Amino acid sequence: KVLVGNLIGEDHVNYVLMYNMLTGIRIAVSRCQAKIKRPLTDEDFIARHKYSFDILGNELTPAAKYDFKFKDYAPWVFRELREDYFHLDPSDYLVSLTAKYILSELGSPGKSGSFFYFSRDYRFIIKTIHHSEHKFLRSILKQYHEHVKSNPHTLLSRFYGLHRVKLPRGKKIHFVIMNNLFPPHKDIHETYDLKGSTVGREYPEEKAAKNPRAVLKDLNWINRGKQLELGPEKRALLTEQLRRDSELLQKLHVMDYSLLVGIHNMRRGNRDNVRRNTLKVFSPNMPRMKRKPTQLKSSSPEAIAIRKAMRESDPKRLDAAGGESLPECDTGDRQHFLFYQDEGGLRATDQANEEADTLYYLGIIDILTPYNTLKKLEHCWKGMQADRHKISPVPPSEYADRFFAFMKAIMPGGEGGERFKPEK
Ligand code: ATP
Ligand code: CA
Ligand code: CA
Repeated sequence: KVLVGNLIGEDHVNYVLMYNMLTGIRIAVSRCQAKIKRPLTDEDFIARHKYSFDILGNELTPAAKYDFKFKDYAPWVFRELREDYFHLDPSDYLVSLTAKYILSELGSPGKSGSFFYFSRDYRFIIKTIHHSEHKFLRSILKQYHEHVKSNPHTLLSRFYGLHRVKLPRGKKIHFVIMNNLFPPHKDIHETYDLKGSTVGREYPEEKAAKNPRAVLKDLNWINRGKQLELGPEKRALLTEQLRRDSELLQKLHVMDYSLLVGIHNMRRGNRDNVRRNTLKVFSPNMPRMKRKPTQLKSSSPEAIAIRKAMRESDPKRLDAAGGESLPECDTGDRQHFLFYQDEGGLRATDQANEEADTLYYLGIIDILTPYNTLKKLEHCWKGMQADRHKISPVPPSEYADRFFAFMKAIMPGGEGGERFKPEK
Protein backbone atom coordinates (compact mmCIF):
# COMPACT_ATOMS: atom_id res chain seq x y z
CA LYS A 1 0.00 0.00 0.00
CA VAL A 2 1.33 3.37 -0.95
CA LEU A 3 0.65 6.56 0.92
CA VAL A 4 -0.86 8.62 -1.85
CA GLY A 5 -4.10 10.43 -1.39
CA ASN A 6 -6.60 11.01 -4.18
CA LEU A 7 -9.01 13.80 -3.60
CA ILE A 8 -12.59 12.64 -3.72
CA GLY A 9 -14.58 14.87 -6.04
CA GLU A 10 -18.27 14.64 -6.81
CA ASP A 11 -17.64 12.26 -9.67
CA HIS A 12 -15.68 9.83 -7.50
CA VAL A 13 -17.29 6.43 -6.87
CA ASN A 14 -17.00 6.95 -3.13
CA TYR A 15 -18.23 10.52 -3.04
CA VAL A 16 -21.64 9.55 -1.67
CA LEU A 17 -20.06 7.41 1.00
CA MET A 18 -17.74 10.24 2.00
CA TYR A 19 -20.58 12.73 2.06
CA ASN A 20 -22.65 10.42 4.25
CA MET A 21 -19.80 9.65 6.61
CA LEU A 22 -18.98 13.30 7.13
CA THR A 23 -22.59 14.42 7.46
CA GLY A 24 -23.25 11.69 9.99
CA ILE A 25 -20.17 12.53 12.03
CA ARG A 26 -20.99 16.21 11.97
CA ILE A 27 -24.51 15.80 13.24
CA ALA A 28 -23.85 13.00 15.71
CA VAL A 29 -20.70 14.44 17.22
CA SER A 30 -22.05 17.95 17.54
CA ARG A 31 -25.21 16.62 19.11
CA CYS A 32 -23.25 14.84 21.83
CA GLN A 33 -20.94 17.82 22.16
CA ALA A 34 -23.86 20.19 22.69
CA LYS A 35 -24.75 18.43 25.93
CA ILE A 36 -23.20 19.04 29.30
CA LYS A 37 -20.39 16.65 30.05
CA ARG A 38 -21.12 13.95 32.60
CA PRO A 39 -19.28 10.94 34.02
CA LEU A 40 -19.48 7.72 31.99
CA THR A 41 -21.81 4.89 32.93
CA ASP A 42 -21.62 1.23 31.95
CA GLU A 43 -24.41 1.76 29.43
CA ASP A 44 -22.32 4.32 27.59
CA PHE A 45 -19.97 1.58 26.40
CA ILE A 46 -22.71 -0.33 24.63
CA ALA A 47 -24.79 2.65 23.52
CA ARG A 48 -25.60 3.28 19.88
CA HIS A 49 -27.48 6.20 18.48
CA LYS A 50 -29.38 5.95 15.24
CA TYR A 51 -29.91 8.73 12.75
CA SER A 52 -31.95 8.63 9.61
CA PHE A 53 -31.05 11.16 6.93
CA ASP A 54 -33.13 12.05 3.93
CA ILE A 55 -33.39 14.80 1.41
CA LEU A 56 -36.29 16.46 3.20
CA GLY A 57 -34.96 16.45 6.72
CA ASN A 58 -36.94 15.80 9.87
CA GLU A 59 -37.18 16.71 13.52
CA LEU A 60 -33.90 15.05 14.39
CA THR A 61 -31.77 15.42 11.32
CA PRO A 62 -31.36 18.22 8.81
CA ALA A 63 -31.97 17.67 5.12
CA ALA A 64 -29.15 15.81 3.42
CA LYS A 65 -28.24 15.32 -0.23
CA TYR A 66 -28.83 11.58 -0.03
CA ASP A 67 -30.94 9.11 1.92
CA PHE A 68 -28.92 7.05 4.36
CA LYS A 69 -28.82 5.79 7.92
CA PHE A 70 -26.07 6.52 10.37
CA LYS A 71 -25.13 4.92 13.67
CA ASP A 72 -22.91 6.49 16.28
CA TYR A 73 -21.40 4.00 18.73
CA ALA A 74 -20.57 4.83 22.34
CA PRO A 75 -20.57 8.58 21.66
CA TRP A 76 -19.94 9.54 25.27
CA VAL A 77 -17.00 7.19 25.59
CA PHE A 78 -15.34 8.56 22.47
CA ARG A 79 -16.05 12.10 23.57
CA GLU A 80 -14.25 11.45 26.82
CA LEU A 81 -11.37 9.73 25.03
CA ARG A 82 -10.99 12.65 22.64
CA GLU A 83 -11.24 15.41 25.18
CA ASP A 84 -9.70 14.00 28.33
CA TYR A 85 -7.06 11.58 27.13
CA PHE A 86 -6.26 12.45 23.54
CA HIS A 87 -6.34 16.20 24.19
CA LEU A 88 -8.28 17.05 21.09
CA ASP A 89 -10.00 20.34 20.93
CA PRO A 90 -13.65 19.49 20.29
CA SER A 91 -14.08 22.30 17.81
CA ASP A 92 -10.91 21.44 15.93
CA TYR A 93 -12.02 17.86 15.56
CA LEU A 94 -15.35 18.75 14.07
CA VAL A 95 -14.01 21.46 11.82
CA SER A 96 -11.01 19.47 10.55
CA LEU A 97 -13.16 16.56 9.61
CA THR A 98 -16.44 17.97 8.51
CA ALA A 99 -16.46 21.70 7.82
CA LYS A 100 -15.92 20.95 4.14
CA TYR A 101 -16.60 17.81 2.20
CA ILE A 102 -12.98 17.14 1.50
CA LEU A 103 -11.25 13.87 2.09
CA SER A 104 -8.61 12.13 0.13
CA GLU A 105 -8.59 8.42 -0.41
CA LEU A 106 -5.48 6.39 0.11
CA GLY A 107 -4.31 4.18 -2.73
CA SER A 108 -6.00 0.89 -3.39
CA PRO A 109 -7.16 -1.20 -0.49
CA GLY A 110 -4.82 -3.86 0.88
CA LYS A 111 -5.71 -7.47 1.41
CA SER A 112 -7.98 -6.56 4.30
CA GLY A 113 -10.16 -4.52 1.91
CA SER A 114 -10.14 -1.47 4.15
CA PHE A 115 -10.21 2.01 2.67
CA PHE A 116 -8.31 4.89 4.22
CA TYR A 117 -9.32 8.53 4.02
CA PHE A 118 -7.42 11.57 5.23
CA SER A 119 -9.08 14.64 6.61
CA ARG A 120 -8.24 17.70 4.55
CA ASP A 121 -5.65 18.87 7.08
CA TYR A 122 -4.10 15.39 7.17
CA ARG A 123 -4.56 15.05 10.94
CA PHE A 124 -7.22 12.36 10.96
CA ILE A 125 -7.63 9.09 9.19
CA ILE A 126 -10.94 7.40 8.54
CA LYS A 127 -10.48 3.68 8.10
CA THR A 128 -13.33 1.48 6.96
CA ILE A 129 -13.24 -1.72 8.96
CA HIS A 130 -14.69 -5.18 8.69
CA HIS A 131 -17.80 -5.98 10.71
CA SER A 132 -15.74 -8.37 12.85
CA GLU A 133 -13.28 -5.60 13.70
CA HIS A 134 -16.17 -3.33 14.55
CA LYS A 135 -17.69 -5.90 16.89
CA PHE A 136 -14.30 -6.52 18.39
CA LEU A 137 -13.65 -2.85 19.13
CA ARG A 138 -17.02 -2.58 20.83
CA SER A 139 -16.27 -5.65 22.90
CA ILE A 140 -12.91 -4.31 24.13
CA LEU A 141 -13.90 -0.66 24.40
CA LYS A 142 -13.93 -0.73 28.16
CA GLN A 143 -10.46 -2.20 28.42
CA TYR A 144 -9.18 0.11 25.72
CA HIS A 145 -10.60 3.11 27.58
CA GLU A 146 -9.09 1.88 30.84
CA HIS A 147 -5.71 1.38 29.21
CA VAL A 148 -5.66 4.81 27.61
CA LYS A 149 -6.70 6.36 30.89
CA SER A 150 -3.86 4.75 32.82
CA ASN A 151 -1.35 5.07 29.95
CA PRO A 152 -1.45 8.67 28.79
CA HIS A 153 1.48 8.03 26.46
CA THR A 154 0.21 4.86 24.88
CA LEU A 155 1.45 4.10 21.38
CA LEU A 156 -1.74 2.31 20.40
CA SER A 157 -3.92 3.80 17.66
CA ARG A 158 -6.00 6.60 19.06
CA PHE A 159 -9.60 5.90 18.21
CA TYR A 160 -11.73 9.03 18.12
CA GLY A 161 -15.01 7.60 16.92
CA LEU A 162 -16.76 4.46 15.73
CA HIS A 163 -19.62 4.75 13.26
CA ARG A 164 -21.65 2.99 10.62
CA VAL A 165 -23.24 4.22 7.44
CA LYS A 166 -26.05 2.24 5.84
CA LEU A 167 -26.75 3.00 2.23
CA PRO A 168 -30.27 2.69 0.76
CA ARG A 169 -29.56 -0.69 -0.82
CA GLY A 170 -28.68 -1.97 2.63
CA LYS A 171 -24.90 -1.98 2.35
CA LYS A 172 -23.35 -1.31 5.75
CA ILE A 173 -20.01 0.36 6.13
CA HIS A 174 -18.29 0.46 9.48
CA PHE A 175 -15.47 2.88 10.14
CA VAL A 176 -13.22 4.36 12.79
CA ILE A 177 -11.60 7.74 13.02
CA MET A 178 -8.03 7.68 14.25
CA ASN A 179 -4.85 9.71 14.47
CA ASN A 180 -2.55 10.03 11.52
CA LEU A 181 0.84 9.19 12.96
CA PHE A 182 2.58 11.14 10.26
CA PRO A 183 2.78 14.90 10.47
CA PRO A 184 1.37 17.21 7.85
CA HIS A 185 4.43 19.46 7.75
CA LYS A 186 7.32 17.00 7.36
CA ASP A 187 8.36 14.71 4.57
CA ILE A 188 8.59 11.10 5.61
CA HIS A 189 11.68 9.73 3.91
CA GLU A 190 11.24 6.11 4.88
CA THR A 191 8.27 4.14 6.21
CA TYR A 192 8.39 0.76 7.92
CA ASP A 193 5.57 -1.50 9.06
CA LEU A 194 7.22 -3.82 11.60
CA LYS A 195 5.73 -6.95 13.15
CA GLY A 196 8.73 -8.85 14.41
CA SER A 197 8.05 -11.55 11.87
CA THR A 198 10.50 -12.28 9.10
CA VAL A 199 8.64 -14.70 6.87
CA GLY A 200 7.43 -12.89 3.77
CA ARG A 201 8.06 -9.57 5.45
CA GLU A 202 9.98 -7.90 2.67
CA TYR A 203 9.12 -5.21 0.19
CA PRO A 204 11.16 -5.76 -2.97
CA GLU A 205 14.20 -3.46 -2.78
CA GLU A 206 14.18 -2.81 -6.54
CA LYS A 207 10.67 -1.42 -6.25
CA ALA A 208 11.57 0.52 -3.10
CA ALA A 209 14.38 2.29 -4.95
CA LYS A 210 11.84 3.74 -7.36
CA ASN A 211 9.18 4.55 -4.81
CA PRO A 212 10.10 6.70 -1.81
CA ARG A 213 6.62 6.27 -0.36
CA ALA A 214 6.75 2.49 -0.23
CA VAL A 215 5.90 0.92 3.10
CA LEU A 216 8.87 -1.31 3.92
CA LYS A 217 8.86 -4.30 6.24
CA ASP A 218 10.88 -6.17 8.81
CA LEU A 219 13.37 -7.75 6.42
CA ASN A 220 14.08 -4.43 4.71
CA TRP A 221 14.79 -2.98 8.14
CA ILE A 222 17.11 -5.83 9.08
CA ASN A 223 18.91 -6.04 5.77
CA ARG A 224 19.44 -2.29 5.63
CA GLY A 225 20.96 -2.53 9.10
CA LYS A 226 18.54 0.04 10.55
CA GLN A 227 18.20 0.87 14.22
CA LEU A 228 15.95 3.11 16.23
CA GLU A 229 18.64 5.55 17.33
CA LEU A 230 17.59 6.30 20.86
CA GLY A 231 19.81 7.05 23.81
CA PRO A 232 19.32 5.30 27.17
CA GLU A 233 16.65 7.72 28.41
CA LYS A 234 14.25 7.62 25.48
CA ARG A 235 14.99 3.97 24.90
CA ALA A 236 13.89 3.08 28.42
CA LEU A 237 10.70 5.11 28.14
CA LEU A 238 9.77 3.71 24.76
CA THR A 239 10.54 0.14 25.80
CA GLU A 240 8.36 0.43 28.87
CA GLN A 241 5.43 1.82 26.88
CA LEU A 242 5.82 -0.87 24.22
CA ARG A 243 5.85 -3.47 26.96
CA ARG A 244 2.61 -2.20 28.47
CA ASP A 245 0.88 -1.81 25.13
CA SER A 246 1.82 -5.23 23.86
CA GLU A 247 0.80 -6.70 27.20
CA LEU A 248 -2.69 -5.32 26.71
CA LEU A 249 -2.89 -6.62 23.14
CA GLN A 250 -1.81 -10.01 24.37
CA LYS A 251 -4.49 -9.97 27.05
CA LEU A 252 -7.09 -9.04 24.44
CA HIS A 253 -5.91 -11.86 22.16
CA VAL A 254 -5.11 -9.43 19.41
CA MET A 255 -2.56 -10.08 16.74
CA ASP A 256 -1.28 -8.94 13.38
CA TYR A 257 -0.64 -5.42 14.63
CA SER A 258 2.51 -3.55 13.70
CA LEU A 259 4.75 -0.77 14.80
CA LEU A 260 4.53 1.82 12.07
CA VAL A 261 7.70 3.90 11.85
CA GLY A 262 8.07 6.99 9.70
CA ILE A 263 11.56 8.46 9.47
CA HIS A 264 12.32 12.09 8.75
CA ASN A 265 15.91 13.01 8.13
CA MET A 266 16.28 16.58 9.37
CA ARG A 267 19.30 17.33 7.21
CA ARG A 268 17.38 16.33 4.15
CA GLY A 269 14.39 18.31 5.39
CA ASN A 270 11.39 18.85 3.17
CA ARG A 271 13.18 19.55 -0.07
CA ASP A 272 11.94 16.42 -1.84
CA ASN A 273 8.34 17.17 -0.97
CA VAL A 274 7.79 13.47 -0.69
CA ARG A 275 4.85 13.85 1.58
CA ARG A 276 3.45 17.09 0.38
CA ASN A 277 2.56 15.84 -3.05
CA THR A 278 0.82 12.89 -1.49
CA LEU A 279 -1.97 15.15 -0.37
CA LYS A 280 -3.32 16.86 -3.40
CA VAL A 281 -5.89 18.53 -1.19
CA PHE A 282 -3.38 21.27 -0.60
CA SER A 283 -2.47 22.01 -4.16
CA PRO A 284 -3.98 25.35 -5.15
CA ASN A 285 -5.21 24.28 -8.57
CA MET A 286 -7.27 21.45 -7.17
CA PRO A 287 -10.98 21.83 -7.84
CA ARG A 288 -12.83 22.44 -4.63
CA MET A 289 -16.20 21.15 -3.69
CA LYS A 290 -18.64 23.92 -4.38
CA ARG A 291 -21.62 22.60 -2.56
CA LYS A 292 -22.31 23.88 0.90
CA PRO A 293 -22.63 21.52 3.84
CA THR A 294 -26.10 20.43 4.76
CA GLN A 295 -28.22 23.27 6.03
CA LEU A 296 -29.10 23.11 9.69
CA LYS A 297 -31.83 25.07 11.34
CA SER A 298 -29.72 27.90 12.71
CA SER A 299 -31.22 27.64 16.18
CA SER A 300 -30.64 23.88 16.50
CA PRO A 301 -28.14 22.77 19.13
CA GLU A 302 -25.96 21.25 16.41
CA ALA A 303 -25.83 24.45 14.45
CA ILE A 304 -24.88 26.32 17.60
CA ALA A 305 -22.17 23.77 18.40
CA ILE A 306 -20.80 23.97 14.87
CA ARG A 307 -20.76 27.76 14.85
CA LYS A 308 -18.97 27.70 18.16
CA ALA A 309 -16.54 25.17 16.74
CA MET A 310 -15.86 27.38 13.73
CA ARG A 311 -15.23 30.41 15.92
CA GLU A 312 -12.92 28.58 18.24
CA SER A 313 -10.93 26.61 15.75
CA ASP A 314 -7.41 27.76 15.13
CA PRO A 315 -7.60 30.53 12.53
CA LYS A 316 -4.10 29.73 11.24
CA ARG A 317 -5.46 26.57 9.77
CA LEU A 318 -7.96 28.24 7.51
CA ASP A 319 -6.52 31.29 5.89
CA ALA A 320 -8.55 34.02 4.27
CA ALA A 321 -7.77 32.92 0.72
CA GLY A 322 -9.67 29.76 1.42
CA GLY A 323 -6.53 27.70 1.16
CA GLU A 324 -5.47 25.57 4.04
CA SER A 325 -2.18 26.07 5.74
CA LEU A 326 -0.56 23.02 7.22
CA PRO A 327 -0.86 22.87 10.99
CA GLU A 328 2.42 22.71 12.85
CA CYS A 329 2.74 19.82 15.22
CA ASP A 330 4.49 21.53 18.09
CA THR A 331 1.20 22.89 19.30
CA GLY A 332 -2.09 21.07 19.70
CA ASP A 333 -2.68 17.55 20.89
CA ARG A 334 0.74 16.14 20.10
CA GLN A 335 2.57 18.27 22.66
CA HIS A 336 0.84 16.29 25.41
CA PHE A 337 2.40 13.01 24.42
CA LEU A 338 5.88 11.96 25.34
CA PHE A 339 6.54 10.24 22.04
CA TYR A 340 5.01 12.93 19.82
CA GLN A 341 6.58 15.97 21.44
CA ASP A 342 9.48 16.71 19.12
CA GLU A 343 7.92 18.33 16.07
CA GLY A 344 5.05 15.90 16.41
CA GLY A 345 7.35 12.90 16.76
CA LEU A 346 10.27 11.48 18.68
CA ARG A 347 13.73 12.89 18.03
CA ALA A 348 16.64 10.48 17.87
CA THR A 349 19.26 10.77 20.58
CA ASP A 350 22.75 9.38 21.01
CA GLN A 351 24.24 7.43 23.90
CA ALA A 352 24.73 10.66 25.87
CA ASN A 353 21.03 11.49 25.27
CA GLU A 354 22.07 14.35 22.97
CA GLU A 355 19.72 15.07 20.09
CA ALA A 356 20.50 13.71 16.64
CA ASP A 357 19.18 14.66 13.20
CA THR A 358 16.39 12.15 12.82
CA LEU A 359 12.73 12.35 13.74
CA TYR A 360 10.66 9.22 14.25
CA TYR A 361 6.91 9.12 13.88
CA LEU A 362 5.74 5.87 15.36
CA GLY A 363 2.81 4.01 16.83
CA ILE A 364 1.10 0.65 17.00
CA ILE A 365 -1.53 0.23 14.29
CA ASP A 366 -4.04 -2.34 13.05
CA ILE A 367 -4.96 -3.55 16.54
CA LEU A 368 -8.45 -4.90 15.85
CA THR A 369 -7.70 -8.44 14.71
CA PRO A 370 -8.46 -11.03 17.36
CA TYR A 371 -7.02 -14.49 17.05
CA ASN A 372 -10.08 -16.12 15.60
CA THR A 373 -10.71 -19.27 13.69
CA LEU A 374 -9.68 -17.67 10.45
CA LYS A 375 -6.26 -16.84 11.80
CA LYS A 376 -5.95 -20.27 13.29
CA LEU A 377 -6.52 -21.74 9.87
CA GLU A 378 -4.02 -19.41 8.28
CA HIS A 379 -1.58 -20.38 10.98
CA CYS A 380 -1.81 -24.08 10.18
CA TRP A 381 -1.61 -23.41 6.47
CA LYS A 382 1.38 -21.08 6.53
CA GLY A 383 2.94 -23.20 9.26
CA MET A 384 3.20 -26.10 6.88
CA GLN A 385 5.34 -24.07 4.56
CA ALA A 386 7.75 -22.27 6.83
CA ASP A 387 9.12 -22.13 10.33
CA ARG A 388 6.05 -21.98 12.53
CA HIS A 389 7.57 -19.38 14.85
CA LYS A 390 8.64 -16.86 12.26
CA ILE A 391 5.39 -16.52 10.32
CA SER A 392 3.07 -13.67 11.14
CA PRO A 393 -0.06 -15.47 12.40
CA VAL A 394 1.07 -17.17 15.59
CA PRO A 395 -1.08 -17.24 18.73
CA PRO A 396 -1.44 -13.86 20.51
CA SER A 397 0.93 -14.54 23.39
CA GLU A 398 3.68 -15.63 21.06
CA TYR A 399 2.90 -12.76 18.72
CA ALA A 400 3.22 -10.19 21.50
CA ASP A 401 6.43 -11.70 22.86
CA ARG A 402 8.02 -11.78 19.45
CA PHE A 403 6.80 -8.25 18.66
CA PHE A 404 8.23 -6.88 21.90
CA ALA A 405 11.49 -8.80 21.51
CA PHE A 406 11.96 -7.37 18.04
CA MET A 407 11.28 -3.81 19.16
CA LYS A 408 13.81 -4.12 21.96
CA ALA A 409 16.32 -5.63 19.59
CA ILE A 410 16.16 -2.78 17.08
CA MET A 411 17.27 -0.18 19.61
CA PRO A 412 21.00 0.30 20.22
CA GLY A 413 22.29 -1.90 23.00
CA GLY A 414 18.96 -3.69 23.00
CA GLU A 415 19.05 -7.26 24.12
CA GLY A 416 18.58 -9.99 21.55
CA GLY A 417 19.88 -7.87 18.66
CA GLU A 418 21.91 -10.78 17.30
CA ARG A 419 18.68 -12.61 16.46
CA PHE A 420 17.81 -9.99 13.91
CA LYS A 421 21.08 -9.48 12.08
CA PRO A 422 21.04 -9.13 8.30
CA GLU A 423 21.06 -12.46 6.52
CA LYS A 424 24.25 -13.02 4.57
P1 ATP B 1 -3.67 -5.47 6.49
O1 ATP B 1 -4.67 -6.08 7.43
O2 ATP B 1 -3.60 -6.09 5.14
O3 ATP B 1 -2.32 -5.26 7.11
P2 ATP B 1 -5.17 -2.99 6.83
O4 ATP B 1 -6.15 -2.60 5.77
O5 ATP B 1 -5.70 -3.49 8.12
O6 ATP B 1 -4.15 -3.97 6.15
P3 ATP B 1 -3.31 -1.25 8.24
O7 ATP B 1 -2.31 -2.33 8.51
O8 ATP B 1 -4.09 -0.69 9.37
O9 ATP B 1 -4.30 -1.68 7.04
O10 ATP B 1 -2.57 -0.03 7.53
C1 ATP B 1 -2.00 -0.17 6.25
C2 ATP B 1 -1.00 0.95 6.01
O11 ATP B 1 -1.67 2.23 6.10
C3 ATP B 1 0.11 1.01 7.06
O12 ATP B 1 1.20 0.17 6.74
C4 ATP B 1 0.49 2.47 7.00
O13 ATP B 1 1.36 2.71 5.93
C5 ATP B 1 -0.84 3.18 6.76
N1 ATP B 1 -1.45 3.57 8.06
C6 ATP B 1 -2.32 2.85 8.78
N2 ATP B 1 -2.66 3.47 9.93
C7 ATP B 1 -1.97 4.64 9.94
C8 ATP B 1 -1.88 5.73 10.88
N3 ATP B 1 -2.56 5.76 12.01
N4 ATP B 1 -1.06 6.76 10.56
C9 ATP B 1 -0.37 6.75 9.40
N5 ATP B 1 -0.40 5.76 8.50
C10 ATP B 1 -1.19 4.71 8.75
CA1 CA C 1 -1.60 -4.35 8.95
CA1 CA D 1 -5.72 -5.43 9.30
